[in-house]
Amino acid sequence: MTNPTNHMATSDSAGNEKDMEGLRSLVSSCSACPLHETRTLPVFGSGNPSATVMIVGEAPGRNEDESGEPFVGKAGERLNEVLALAGLSRDEVFVANVLKCRPPRNRNPRPDEIDACSSYLIEQLDAVGPKIVVTFGNFATQFVLGTKQGVSEVHGRLFRDVTVSHDGCSASSAVSVYPVFHPAATIYRPQWRVVLEGDMQRLGDIIRKMG
Ligand code: SF4
Repeated sequence: MTNPTNHMATSDSAGNEKDMEGLRSLVSSCSACPLHETRTLPVFGSGNPSATVMIVGEAPGRNEDESGEPFVGKAGERLNEVLALAGLSRDEVFVANVLKCRPPRNRNPRPDEIDACSSYLIEQLDAVGPKIVVTFGNFATQFVLGTKQGVSEVHGRLFRDVTVSHDGCSASSAVSVYPVFHPAATIYRPQWRVVLEGDMQRLGDIIRKMG
């Protein structure tokens, strides 16, 4: 499977809302992987198009698939809670997923789907131009860091000068990356919730030091 936009991201697009709208339009009609057959709506992402902090999750769930928006309902409430621990509000950040369409029954993303969708996220990174990318859970962390390590091994660590690239598409600027457990995965695991909350508080300290 090739990249749907099939080109290298360029620095021209940094912080450019117009490019975001162009990308949104491409995603809305994308059929580059089989998930387009089962989705209700693609979920492009939302938030501040010039955010300092960008959140990268895994894939839309049922509510997101129906609304076309990321992190709605309970997932959205939980996101707001963990952002607040870092002193952030939803309006300040940009939120996107690795996959823009919901995998049936919320199964894990497949490698061919990630390959097909990868250039959209990389171009979103270029368009927003964040200083720090917070990855939620294994799939987002492995994609952004280009690692096979799970989030339980790398959470709460700041990785500097990461150039996000995948399947021939590369971001034009390096970013800092901060992996944490996915908030949805912590709902039924209190021990992970405590770790996530500590990591988000430390994220707040890191952001304040960055100025
Ligand atoms: Fe296109 Fe990504 Fe949706 Fe697949 S998941 S159809 S590549 S937007």
